[in-house]
Amino acid sequence: MHVIYGGTFDPVHHGHLRLALEVSECFEGAPVSLVPCHIPPHRGATGATAQQRLRMLQQAIAGDPYLRIDDRELNRGGASYTADTLRQLRCELGDDEPLAMVVGTDAFAAFDRWKEWEQIPELAHIIVVQRPGMTLNPETRPGRLLAERRAGGTEALRHCASGYVLELDPPRLDISATGIRERLRMGRSARYLVPETVLAEIHDMGLYRACPVTKN
Ligand code: ATP
Repeated sequence: MHVIYGGTFDPVHHGHLRLALEVSECFEGAPVSLVPCHIPPHRGATGATAQQRLRMLQQAIAGDPYLRIDDRELNRGGASYTADTLRQLRCELGDDEPLAMVVGTDAFAAFDRWKEWEQIPELAHIIVVQRPGMTLNPETRPGRLLAERRAGGTEALRHCASGYVLELDPPRLDISATGIRERLRMGRSARYLVPETVLAEIHDMGLYRACPVTKN
């Protein structure tokens, strides 16, 4: 079972990390690969550069046996499209290995705006994770996709290479990277929202401040 979890990770926070671990546990400790995107196609510029976001991720997961980083989108450059990433992975894994991607309900609600979105279920399973305060409208195209391809449980995904949509509702942490950037911009603390090592990187690199300070 190969599981990827893509995001901007600007910065990575405990909501992401806890979710990745919950997903890994659902699949008996299968590693979850965090895939930082290079340029997110559906949103504005990131607060930190691709290399800074990667560095924070490396700090965040250092020593964790269940979490990995797949930096292929950063190496590929340009806008990051999940369909391209899944196609590459499918070539590497072969036709039979189960492949799944994790998305939050907020991201899945706009799934029909993703490049080649209709191809994605042919390449991978989709694990949709409930995000606090977000319900998926069943009348939308993503809502219908979920209804048509809904998996009864994790077992279905393990026995098939792609094609199911699994809803997971693990205990959630109501943390967002937007909220963290906003706090830091206002000079407030992000402690306990991100790992200490990530906080140290943020301070060392002078990230997310209204006026970046030069370290001497
Ligand atoms: P931003 O606030 O900048 O939009 P974010 O915190 O939503 O960032 P992303 O990197 O954009 O983080 O998210 C990557 C994926 O992680 C998305 O699918 C998103 O739904 C999911 N996600 C982010 N935060 C959480 C959380 N606290 N709990 C569950 N899923 C989350």
